[in-house]
Amino acid sequence: MQPQQVTVLGATGSIGSSTLDVISQHPQRYQVFALTAHSRISELQALCVRFQPRFAVVAEAAKAQRLQADLQVAGVATRVLVGPQGLCEVAAHPDVDTVMAAIVGAAGLESVMAAVTAGKKILLANKEALVMSGALFMSAVREHKAQLLPIDSEHNAIFQCLPCNYAEGLEPVGVRRILLTASGGPFRNSSYQTLEQVTPEQACAHPNWSMGQKISVDSATMMNKGLELIEACWLFAARPDQVEVVVHPQSVIHSLVDYVDGSVLAQLGNPDMRTPIAHAMAWPERIDSGVAPLDLCALARMDFVAPDLERFACLRLAIEAAKLGGTAPIALNAANEVAVAAFLQNRLRFTQIPQLIEKVLSLSRVSTVNDLAGVFEIDREARQQAQAWLNKQSI
Ligand code: NDP
Ligand code: MG
Repeated sequence: MQPQQVTVLGATGSIGSSTLDVISQHPQRYQVFALTAHSRISELQALCVRFQPRFAVVAEAAKAQRLQADLQVAGVATRVLVGPQGLCEVAAHPDVDTVMAAIVGAAGLESVMAAVTAGKKILLANKEALVMSGALFMSAVREHKAQLLPIDSEHNAIFQCLPCNYAEGLEPVGVRRILLTASGGPFRNSSYQTLEQVTPEQACAHPNWSMGQKISVDSATMMNKGLELIEACWLFAARPDQVEVVVHPQSVIHSLVDYVDGSVLAQLGNPDMRTPIAHAMAWPERIDSGVAPLDLCALARMDFVAPDLERFACLRLAIEAAKLGGTAPIALNAANEVAVAAFLQNRLRFTQIPQLIEKVLSLSRVSTVNDLAGVFEIDREARQQAQAWLNKQSI
């Protein structure tokens, strides 16, 4: 069997490095075709030396030239490409079998769409892409016969709990609800007064998962669960009212599917992204991920509680945007990306994140879009509105 050729978009990130960890455990099965990075160029260089990909992609021409020269000196034959065009090229290249979409935020949309249009096997971590372009994305998957496998642990769990597998083109039968579990983040039990004083360092210190900064802040505000609710609706053809969020602080049950006959199926595992990554990479087979077996007796208990939509207003706003549909999730996502970046730069208080998003949502007129250009137009408008609001605030 020839090894599968894998492009890792966002190779220097948290999902990127977990993916490379799984790949390195199965060298007969997977070969790295291309690796991409944005700001962490020396990390990318080290990865190129280790995995010898055919291509690497970075954002700027000057950095690409320097990296190319350094790789030549090191005797590495990797060709370095530049910018969004380079990302799309390595996502859609005819020699690529599988694309891990692990760039964070709207910046990852164009390249994952290039992979979809080229009919690749897509391992989707970049939930923002689906939130922004759900209808277009899913119809492109069908039209180009791409294979879409969810990496987000909750969606991967749901996928595993659907016996009629939607990836084979079969609609799941008899599903009553999807139960999306949430850890509740580092401020699950914090008062509103405490939330007002939260620092970026505290927000990025997740109790169960080690992740990139943006998703860590999203987990702390629970916007992550809101984005995941929208993601679940697209992946599993569900209405927003069929997806219920349950706070489960231990993050051992990754999500559940409730059937009309009363059966509830769940997927459990230690909180380590290598499990859903290995599952999706090998599907429908199974491979070792390097994750330790779950020790239920050591865990001893599992807790569940309903989310507090007042303290975690971002989740409420995302549910509202999901119900509005159309372009509302694009505006929600854009406003959230601006708000999170401002919070990380100490330009916005933690509790102002939902205020900014609510303002942008109130200004955005819900419509529909027919292509990616339309998606980016709504995204740009919402970012401008968010910046204008931000410039008027004092923290
Ligand atoms: P990280 O911040 O750790 O990594 C992001 C990656 O994207 C890096 O390789 C980064 O490059 C690259 N990148 C950032 N901005 C750009 C840009 N403008 N253009 C091109 N590349 C860019 O994020 P995570 O790995 O945590 O998350 C990645 C995605 O996966 C997100 O959408 C997240 O929601 C999703 N996800 C993550 C989970 C996790 O456990 N981390 C779990 C479930 C989903 P560089 O580092 O060189 O700047
Ligand atoms: Mg998740």
